[in-house]
Amino acid sequence: MPTLTSDFLDFARDKRADLLGIAPIERFDDVPGDHHPTSIFPECRSVVVVGKRITRGTLRGIEEGTQFDLYGQYGLAWLADRMLAITTITLATWLEDQRFEACPIQDLSPEIPPSGIAVRPDLPAPNVMIDVRAAAVRAGLAEIGYCGEVLTPQFGPRQRFQLILTDAPLEPTPMLAEPVCDRCRACMESCPLGAWDAAGDVSITLSGKTMAVAGIDYAQCRQCRNGAQPNPHHPAGRPDRLGALCVRTCVAHLDETGRLRNAFVTPFRKRPVWHR
Ligand code: SF4
Ligand code: SF4
Repeated sequence: MPTLTSDFLDFARDKRADLLGIAPIERFDDVPGDHHPTSIFPECRSVVVVGKRITRGTLRGIEEGTQFDLYGQYGLAWLADRMLAITTITLATWLEDQRFEACPIQDLSPEIPPSGIAVRPDLPAPNVMIDVRAAAVRAGLAEIGYCGEVLTPQFGPRQRFQLILTDAPLEPTPMLAEPVCDRCRACMESCPLGAWDAAGDVSITLSGKTMAVAGIDYAQCRQCRNGAQPNPHHPAGRPDRLGALCVRTCVAHLDETGRLRNAFVTPFRKRPVWHR
């Protein structure tokens, strides 16, 4: 028998949302107020995480070292600010058609500092930034891989996410049980800039899920010219590494070992890699 949640999932699939997870607000209990969804929408009951894939071909120009702009458009700016944003607001309008409020949230790095002053002493200063990557884990879609990026069983590191905060009574998605990352360390071993502290692994726990992540010097990643880019919104934000050599090496590894549901008839990495 169809429910609000099953109808919503059917609609999302029809609108080509590649990934959709639902985190009940209780999975954010350990998040401080200056990054908490209810600081934006106090009646929020569920955080819907919407994802669209970065197609493998979008990485091809960087992998070959001959075309970087197509990733910047179809993998980064256009994907997030146009294609995914349209999917997110389309799903939000569906929820509001059912008479539930739906607040769309883009992926702005939580490292970005507040840019205003609190309007009341009991409220955090604007703008509250929600950690969208962590929300994807809390919604059961993903884990944080050893490379420090979000990995899903469908696409590995190849996707971007946005959120919808809603008071709709949606059924939660279970936390992801199957591991995606096999801790092979090929990602960090490929780094030509020495951004990896091999003895500096850190442990991250999100909604009870604990993941081992490499010690990464993001100051090096901000300077990296191997497919990485500065954060598109703020210099203090996390650099974009989804086209970088380390993460493309993860794409190649997950492909070769058959660990992704989005499989291909040919391998991703066909020639020796370049680096600077
Ligand atoms: S390359 Fe290996 S260790 Fe690194 S994130 Fe991918 S699966 Fe994990
Ligand atoms: S983004 Fe560049 S510097 Fe950072 S870990 Fe990856 S390859 Fe190394």
